[in-house]
Amino acid sequence: MVLLLFSLSGCSGSATLTDAATSSTAAASAGKAATADFFAMNTYMSITANGTEAQAAVDAAQAEVYRLENQLSRTITDSEISQINAQSGNGPVSVSKETFDMILEAVSYSEKTGGAFDITIAPVMDLWGFSDSNFRVPEQTEILAVLPLVDSQKIILDEAALSVELPVEGMALDLGGIAKGYASDKVQQIMSTYDITSALISLGGNVAVFGPKADGGLWKIAISDPNAADSYIGILTATDISVITSGGYERNFTKDGVTYIHIMDPALGSPVQSDLLSVSIITQSGVQGDCLSTSLFVMGKDKAIAYWQEQQDFECVLVTTAGEVFASSGIKDTFTLTDEQGTLIFF
Ligand code: ADP
Ligand code: MG
Repeated sequence: MVLLLFSLSGCSGSATLTDAATSSTAAASAGKAATADFFAMNTYMSITANGTEAQAAVDAAQAEVYRLENQLSRTITDSEISQINAQSGNGPVSVSKETFDMILEAVSYSEKTGGAFDITIAPVMDLWGFSDSNFRVPEQTEILAVLPLVDSQKIILDEAALSVELPVEGMALDLGGIAKGYASDKVQQIMSTYDITSALISLGGNVAVFGPKADGGLWKIAISDPNAADSYIGILTATDISVITSGGYERNFTKDGVTYIHIMDPALGSPVQSDLLSVSIITQSGVQGDCLSTSLFVMGKDKAIAYWQEQQDFECVLVTTAGEVFASSGIKDTFTLTDEQGTLIFF
């Protein structure tokens, strides 16, 4: 029997593809399986289904990801997000209900997380060169100049008109911290309308599994080791769940011995310097998982644990720079460390 271990690291595309291929081999032996491996939303994606309509389900899933990318990407010039950004300081822009609702939900996560999550982070991403990979460390004066542009509360949302307005010129939206989670939820919803028995949806660091594995058992979802690209720190045994990981190891640059990562602290206008190496959120909602993996990473260990203790509507695994693994008590029976000597602390 093939043991399916799935890497959750966002940019280790080759590992993702290799493991997805393993799953399709396992599934193929069960008869009807289909897999699509492709690049979208800046990451490697792999979607596998088993069942009579596996191929049609996978095709529809892939089309859905492309549809959402065209609507939400800030680098595709005619996307709805680009239209909103181009019009900043110049009045409202009408958008689809879907985009409107997603922005509304993103703003509600800003409120919930005390501003740790903020989709108006775009000017900060630009300043540090994360938008075009021309990385640089800006002057403090430049950071102070863009900071007033970062504030979700300033977005003017008109529900009746379905319009979005960025009131200050230079403000811009970046849905990079929520789009893949949303896409994962939509893909699952669409695939469930086909005659399939199981599905594995892997959109970069966002993995979702549905139904029993081809051999009838639960899936084993590996949580990447943030220190070692191709290995993992632990395994979650589950199904009908999303496991979404954010880590500084996914995208970063190093200057004068300091590593700068692609997750920003909206309060500081600079890359997060956290005591965490990665945050994995385990939940049924891809949107929640995506927003919270980013948010808890920004918060750091103590605030992340306090946030979980307040909310308790998701599970999480935190890997610290000190090498410990902290996990919420709801996965006590389903999460195990790969290294039996490692430190695993449940809270
Ligand atoms: P990944 O996209 O690599 O899986 P995340 O889900 O953590 O990782 O999202 C990081 C992306 O979200 C960044 O590339 C950027 O587009 C955006 N982002 C960065 N910092 C924040 C933040 N504090 N709040 C919301 N979005 C953010
Ligand atoms: Mg995220």
